[in-house]
Amino acid sequence: MKTSTFIEIERRGTGGWDEVLATEAHLVAPGEEWKSELWRVAVEQFNRAADLLELEQEMRARMLSPRRSLVVSFPVRLDSGEVRSFTGYRVQHTLTMGPTKGGIRYAPGISLGECAALAMWMTLKCALVGLPFGGAKGGVRCDPNRLSPQELERLTRRYAAELFPIIGPDRDIPAPDMATSEREMAWFMDTYSQQVGHPAPEIVTGKPVVLGGTAGRREATGLGAVFCTERLLEQLGWDLAGQRVAIQGFGNVGSVMARELDARGAVIVGLSDVTGGVVDQAGLDVAAVERWVAGHRFMRGCPEGLYVTRQEILETPCDILIPAALEHQLTEDNAADVDCRLVVEAANGPTTPEAEKILSERGIMILPDLLVNSGGVTVSYFEWVQDQQRYLWDGFEVASRLESKMRTAVDRVIETAEALETDWRTAAQSVAIVRIAEASRLRAIYP
Ligand code: NAD
Repeated sequence: MKTSTFIEIERRGTGGWDEVLATEAHLVAPGEEWKSELWRVAVEQFNRAADLLELEQEMRARMLSPRRSLVVSFPVRLDSGEVRSFTGYRVQHTLTMGPTKGGIRYAPGISLGECAALAMWMTLKCALVGLPFGGAKGGVRCDPNRLSPQELERLTRRYAAELFPIIGPDRDIPAPDMATSEREMAWFMDTYSQQVGHPAPEIVTGKPVVLGGTAGRREATGLGAVFCTERLLEQLGWDLAGQRVAIQGFGNVGSVMARELDARGAVIVGLSDVTGGVVDQAGLDVAAVERWVAGHRFMRGCPEGLYVTRQEILETPCDILIPAALEHQLTEDNAADVDCRLVVEAANGPTTPEAEKILSERGIMILPDLLVNSGGVTVSYFEWVQDQQRYLWDGFEVASRLESKMRTAVDRVIETAEALETDWRTAAQSVAIVRIAEASRLRAIYP
């Protein structure tokens, strides 16, 4: 078929593309814009739940197509005077549930497909916990370690200005993610406020408290994960006191979990970071490890317990293993050597589908990331609510509301898993999908 005849083909939805693609091999098929490893995993997990729910094709297609995305290219003047062009992204996955919400990351490998997968997970996470948001994710392709603070500020401000047409407190509310923090959120909020002509703290969450950030945001993800673990153990009839816990990752999430679980009587038998870790079956002194890391930045050389490598921490004998560092940590290569009864996924995507199969065959339970780390976005929601009302809560109120949300979400997941006779990951996805599908049906289709 020649190109000229393509325009004769009547286009209904994506109709006509099969013929176009048959001859124009260089074209990107509809949906292929999102192609990435993370998108593949996200779609696979989604389909497992959608199959179980017998979700209609139309609804699947809607949920698997991010609703709005923006790719921007913009110049930034470097300290040397040279001007460099950067590419930025923002994907808004679902617009049905309310404004969209999701982080901004600075990373060399970021792509539209990666943002799409992360935005979809944000949609599901918000729906699971019952927050009035759809999911979003964005970022700038750069190596943040090679940019000075001044360059990062110019890059952040220009990226914020580029996103201006599609963001807003009632449209899309960014937050920190990889390589962005309170500092970037302050620049972002200031840039947006300059554009609209008045202070607009509600445009981002994860801000410094003095600019309208919330008490408890920094600890939110780790504390939320501990509340989830506590509730699950109550449901399983296990006593948290005395459980042996090993944690991979000692950053924002891992260090808070270590401290909070230790305070609740768990025995912390292993801790690690990017430089390796320490183990002690009699229990590590968490405060001493924290002091070492505060003074030396990394865990390497820490005199507590015995040294283990980054890989060995995942094979430490324990009751509860908590990956709290990176994605893709429990794989088919090490799943057979994992020595625990329960995996609590504090990181996003730490277990590959292949490893999950091996772990479940071995009777090891997995509390999924969608549920475990949803405390972060929950407290971001609290921050947005406080900013809208110009009424700030104290840390106690934030923590008690977080606890209630986390416990309810755990109970919903366990009930759903029992009702559908499935695993907790698929149950968590199912709770979210049912909610989004119901909202989509009720809003119907415009026009
Ligand atoms: P962080 O950067 O504060 O800490 C990451 C930790 O992992 C560091 O201690 C680092 O040294 C360690 N690490 C890095 N590579 C490692 C490796 N190969 N082996 C062992 N340790 C390694 O990050 P964070 O905010 O604690 O986030 C951790 C995970 O939790 C990520 O998957 C993130 O997406 C997820 N998460 C975080 C939040 C949040 O609010 N911070 C919210 C939701 C999900």
